[in-house]
Amino acid sequence: MKLLIASKNRGKIVEIRALLGLALQKAVEVVTLAEMSNVAQPREDGKTFAENARMKAIHYATAYKILCIADDSGLAVDALGGLPGVRSARYAGEGASDGANNAHLLHELAPFARPWKAGFVCVAAAALPHRVVAEATGKMEGEILPEGRGRDGFGYDPLFFVSSLGKTMAELSTEEKNRISHRGKALRALIAEMKTAGLILA
Ligand code: IMP
Repeated sequence: MKLLIASKNRGKIVEIRALLGLALQKAVEVVTLAEMSNVAQPREDGKTFAENARMKAIHYATAYKILCIADDSGLAVDALGGLPGVRSARYAGEGASDGANNAHLLHELAPFARPWKAGFVCVAAAALPHRVVAEATGKMEGEILPEGRGRDGFGYDPLFFVSSLGKTMAELSTEEKNRISHRGKALRALIAEMKTAGLILA
């Protein structure tokens, strides 16, 4: 059987592939959008991570008639009232680079006193054509640093400090990050739910 990861974000795909590799039997072939023919992109204008994750999963499951998982995720900073939230990927503008988004975040935080408490949130959804069949949320807490550290990961990882490890997310390997991250938590719960529902081999 085939399982589609509905993402074009290389950082996410690396992490999700590693998580699925640990959890799935070899009989499940994991594919990404890069291996599929081109179809129109889904709308991503939901007000919540859950709405966006469901929209993406249903869109691609229906287009390709395949079991599909999608993640919608982002950063919520306390001092900014939960921003950038669902706008995390385009905080500095449509199509902004990770560097530009990180610079914009530090600019917005500059007037506020540290520590800059923040959390990552991920909602993972699984769908078959026209319907969501499983959904799970994962969260983690941390603090935004005034300067980036580390070269791994993606997005806001260089600025996101995990006090229990004394490292930023960008200083962790994929496996270390997956063990504690919002995405790791959401995907492990999603896979368990899919196995219980008989959607993938246990
Ligand atoms: P999405 O593709 O709409 O879900 O956007 C996710 C965006 O949130 C990414 O482009 C990053 O800016 C941010 N983000 C989500 N998860 C992570 C993570 O694990 N590390 C760093 N940034 C993340």
